[in-house]
Amino acid sequence: STDTTVPAVVAAPRVPTCHGTLVEYANFDHGASTPALVSVKAAVDRATQTYSSVHRGQGWTSQVSSHYYEAARDEVARFVGARESDEVVFTRNTTDSFNLLARSLPRRTQVIVFATEHHATLLPWEARRTTRLPVPLTHTDAEALLVEALKRATSSSVLVVLSGASNVTGEYWPVARLAAAARKRGARVALDAAQLAGHRRIDLETLGVDYVAFSGHKIYAPYGTGVLVGRADWLDAAPPYLAGGGATAKVGPLSTTWQTGPARHEGGSPNVLGAVAVAAACAAIRENRGAVESHESRLSTRLVDGLRAIDGVETFSIFGADAERAPVVTFTVEDVDSSLVSAVLSAEHGIGVRDGKFCAHLLVDSLLADEDADVTTAVRVSAGLATTDEHVDRLLAAVASLAASGPGVAYEQVDGRGWV
Ligand code: PMP
Repeated sequence: STDTTVPAVVAAPRVPTCHGTLVEYANFDHGASTPALVSVKAAVDRATQTYSSVHRGQGWTSQVSSHYYEAARDEVARFVGARESDEVVFTRNTTDSFNLLARSLPRRTQVIVFATEHHATLLPWEARRTTRLPVPLTHTDAEALLVEALKRATSSSVLVVLSGASNVTGEYWPVARLAAAARKRGARVALDAAQLAGHRRIDLETLGVDYVAFSGHKIYAPYGTGVLVGRADWLDAAPPYLAGGGATAKVGPLSTTWQTGPARHEGGSPNVLGAVAVAAACAAIRENRGAVESHESRLSTRLVDGLRAIDGVETFSIFGADAERAPVVTFTVEDVDSSLVSAVLSAEHGIGVRDGKFCAHLLVDSLLADEDADVTTAVRVSAGLATTDEHVDRLLAAVASLAASGPGVAYEQVDGRGWV
């Protein structure tokens, strides 16, 4: 849209290269953590001037802090299109949100989850009966696998856990379609939006999703705060996630009555500045959705087309080469170890990427199954609001040169891991 602009990100530092030059850091690791938005930093600065105890003190600054904290909750609710029956719980991150949800499931809940998920989404349910669906090849295949598992489920309480976008391939999942299949059979759906929230609009009602979780540090707020938003009934009936002050309604000598609502699971003094930061990030993205989406779809196309055009580079996808994706691409370079690719990009070009299995071992093993036995890891580039066309050009030129003629300088592997 024309009346929105790409929210400004705190300027990247200039970083040294092994050629003795300083270059502007090109951050291609937005999928792990994003730099802060200028507006997020300003909101935190402002809230820092008055921060004080929340929900307990009557002092003026306490009242302001409590207001900031609750206003942050309202912004998160708006960001995901929360319904009346939903509550917004502040957590530490997506991992924490799903662990809270896992502990809040009614007894005998069965969980259905795709093997493609990030470990934060795959593993918290291990104490429950869990069905792991194999890596699907198409959207239709994903739906068929899910429907089959739902038919076989024997419990009356079933939770389907899905992600909105893959942290490995960036591909968007057909969430509304899968959620409709789950709902039709009486199951609830939890959405991992860690890789979606920064890129695409989330609307719980339209998607047909019961719970959503994401992390502040992947949407241009600092570390330490995430959210779980969703139906209040299970959460209100569950044991408090963090038993302690603030989570109680009444404490007697022999019994404790716990709060309902978000306070039940937010025992202890809350991270007010973290909540302010997440809310400021949500507001900036929500208000500039058109500009964010067009910036990212341009980057995504340039990255995917550019990398695919390089001889010796192979890119990976779950649903096929044409699947729509966030600006995230995972690839390998023929005959160059993935950890060396990322070392070269950093040392010679000032480009930050990630290599390995990206906390999604089952998916990466499956994507690399057709490769030579010694190719067990890949490189991931993930762009975002801090990415410029110059960064993309620099990355593509660096990868092309590496694929054609190897590293520009000699590297030595240290301890079988890093490269110097
Ligand atoms: N899900 C996905 C898809 C992710 O990419 C990540 C982070 N890499 C997580 C969950 C976990 O997020 P956090 O580390 O903030 O808990």
